[in-house]
Amino acid sequence: MGLNPLGMQTLQKATNRETRRINQRLVMGTIYDEGPISRAHVARVTGLTRTTVSDVVDGLLTDGLAEEIGFGQSTGGKAPILLRVPDDARQLIGIEVGDVHLSGAIVNLRGEIRHAVELPLDARDGERALSQLDLLVDRLMAGPHRPLLGIGLGTPGLIDTSTGTVQWAVNFDWRDLPLGQHIAERWKLRTYVVNDSQAAALAEHTFGGHARRPNMVVVKVGRGIGAGFVLDGRLYQGDGFGAGEIGHTAVADGNRPCHCGSFGCLETIASTRAVVEHARELAPRFAGSGEIDLDTLVEAFQSGDALANEVVVDAAEHLGRAIGALIGVLNVEHIVLVGEMTRFGEPWLSAVRREARRSALALLADRAQIEIGRLSPNLVVLGSAALLMTRELGLTFSR
Ligand SMILES: [Zn+2]
Repeated sequence: MGLNPLGMQTLQKATNRETRRINQRLVMGTIYDEGPISRAHVARVTGLTRTTVSDVVDGLLTDGLAEEIGFGQSTGGKAPILLRVPDDARQLIGIEVGDVHLSGAIVNLRGEIRHAVELPLDARDGERALSQLDLLVDRLMAGPHRPLLGIGLGTPGLIDTSTGTVQWAVNFDWRDLPLGQHIAERWKLRTYVVNDSQAAALAEHTFGGHARRPNMVVVKVGRGIGAGFVLDGRLYQGDGFGAGEIGHTAVADGNRPCHCGSFGCLETIASTRAVVEHARELAPRFAGSGEIDLDTLVEAFQSGDALANEVVVDAAEHLGRAIGALIGVLNVEHIVLVGEMTRFGEPWLSAVRREARRSALALLADRAQIEIGRLSPNLVVLGSAALLMTRELGLTFSR
């Protein structure tokens, strides 16, 4: 069955449009990465003709997505005009739905935070969390900002990034919540919703000074535990967007109930919530303890308290085993730990490393570097914004 002439024309138009879109991404990405750069140089890097590059650049100049910033060195003839992407040509809203806070920021195309807002959050009230979220975006929109590209939001849970639907977020009891659609319709902006650990991985990969590493695992260890994978330079989300949901893998021998309804999950032993609970159970034996929370536990651990040590090292070893499994599955050599558990510092990290090495194939484990990330606390905010930029403009932050 063939297409009639009219159908062919429509198809041809669609193909032309798609070609233009691909060329625009290629040219803008090159100017963003390599700028200041001349049109001729862009043509060499992209393999496009000079005419095509000039056409695309005209469009970018009109849209304010590129600017001319003077002349480069002449190579004999006329000195070439240099182009670059202005850092604030577009701005983005990045949002993190955290454990106890809702954080949002206006971010520019280089990941610089221009304006930030934070609101308290009650992790058990999903309805209230939603209204706080509306308030947060209202406040960000009311502040000074340039033309906005859209909104990126990182939240714990199983998120369908293609539709912006929260399939399940245990903490807020959100199920099949069309969060992205709600935000996009309310503010008429492109919106992306992504799992918080996946956002953290994108942010570390993009802004964490690990430039040009194709593969990277970021494990976020706070009240919840999740991993994010950047593989071959791209965020890997799996078949159902749940790649990295390691927090609810049963690892512990005991039968500790988990808030997900299962037992013995990694989160019941290696999360901040778990170590605080374990320390409280041991509290009768806890030297001179008042109320135990994360702060007092970190303090006790750092001052060498034996029971704090027992609880935290046990948590670290279970995490290390899970990371050892990831090393075996993915053969990723760069693993970054982020989140509140990293407050336990070097001794905790050493226990994680030791156990990861012990539980993975020695040759693979020896090559793996496990370290604490340097970017926090805005990791999820930046990562959500990075996803939006990548998807909307094709900017991948390769440097
Ligand atoms: Zn669980």
